[in-house]
Amino acid sequence: MSKEENLECSFCGRKKAETDLLIAGMDAHICDKCIEQAHGIVEEEISDAKSSSLSKDLTLKKPLEIKEFLDQYIIGQNETKRAMAVAVYNHYKRLLQDKNDEDEVEIEKSNIVLVGETGTGKTLVARTIAKMLNVPFSIVDATVLTQAGYVGEDVESILSRLLQAADYDVEKAERGIVFIDEIDKIARKGDNPSITRDVSGEGVQQALLKLLEGAVVNVAPKGGRKHPEQKFIEVNTKDILFIAGGAFSGIDKIISKRLNMQAVGFGASLDEDKVDQENLLQYITPLDLKSFGLIPEIIGRLPVLSYMNPLDAKTLRAILTEPKNSIIKQYAKLFGMDEVNFTIDEDALNYIVEKAVEYKLGARGLRSLCEAIFTDAMFDLPSSDQKEFNVTREYAEAKLTNTTLKKLRAAS
Ligand code: ADP
Repeated sequence: MSKEENLECSFCGRKKAETDLLIAGMDAHICDKCIEQAHGIVEEEISDAKSSSLSKDLTLKKPLEIKEFLDQYIIGQNETKRAMAVAVYNHYKRLLQDKNDEDEVEIEKSNIVLVGETGTGKTLVARTIAKMLNVPFSIVDATVLTQAGYVGEDVESILSRLLQAADYDVEKAERGIVFIDEIDKIARKGDNPSITRDVSGEGVQQALLKLLEGAVVNVAPKGGRKHPEQKFIEVNTKDILFIAGGAFSGIDKIISKRLNMQAVGFGASLDEDKVDQENLLQYITPLDLKSFGLIPEIIGRLPVLSYMNPLDAKTLRAILTEPKNSIIKQYAKLFGMDEVNFTIDEDALNYIVEKAVEYKLGARGLRSLCEAIFTDAMFDLPSSDQKEFNVTREYAEAKLTNTTLKKLRAAS
């Protein structure tokens, strides 16, 4: 026998002739079969390590801690912050549930629907939760979705965005959070359930159902419409948390009507005097979403329902300076980078809030107002010797002309 043929795998002892490939190392050899087996072991170990580190991450936060994290970024909206904290806690408990659990109690998903005027922080809440959990996050607008076969984006495109956010790591994407904005815009138009070709309404709701509940979906990595030559990536949505948001404009009338009917009904427990007519959203129930035009199946798959309070002047004032990355803190940082010490008087802050309220600009308008006031300084100061920049009410008033304000209102 030649010396060559005498070689054998140092791991399994197979002779060279019995292998397809035998690779030589320093003092040993390994055959193709052992390489394959070893590769399998490595993969398994790595994925175990990954999921146990994920488990550690996820068990860290209790609802109270989640709420405290949200408090750093979001002013007010306590009801929603509490509801979200519990929903997210339960969602991740569900992910960590021992798959070999004997008692067969399966925890269902706690997808969330947030109802509130635009600019009240719905997206912010969802984004902040994703930031805390360090999971991929994507935002989709329900209005661009259409039923397959119509012009627009297939519902699956929701997942393309999430995949992108996860750098195409499918496992990561499968634990991500998707914010579906303007869910109210796909409500059934009119109360006629027999309309079968309601392109942007019920058809989309039906298509969304399986995503919300959990399904393996073929996703076109680049998004857009599916076409036959495209390669698909399989994504399982069972552990993806969906947060839907919408203004549901007009739902206050539905709530008010329901409350009135309850009040005159037998055994009425709701004292009319106690109903806060200014903020009817706080009484919202899933039934109101149904009256608005969401189909019961969708409502069933968004079991956590919460609402956002309108932002009053006090809240707007707090939004300017209190959040961890508040607008004013951001400007101070920007000026600081040019070694300019930026300060702003309380009066000037109040003025910004007054204008935001007067021109109905909401929280988003605060940023545009600040931009209008500070732009000249941001242009001039970097090339000047001035190292102090104090904004007074007079300074702010001078920078905000009526034309600017009108422009801002038109743009909002
Ligand atoms: P929505 O999704 O409800 O339309 P957003 O979450 O996009 O509203 O809010 C718009 C912006 O307004 C946010 O980026 C944030 O800067 C600010 N904002 C709104 N509500 C709050 C809040 N309660 N606390 C802090 N900032 C807020």
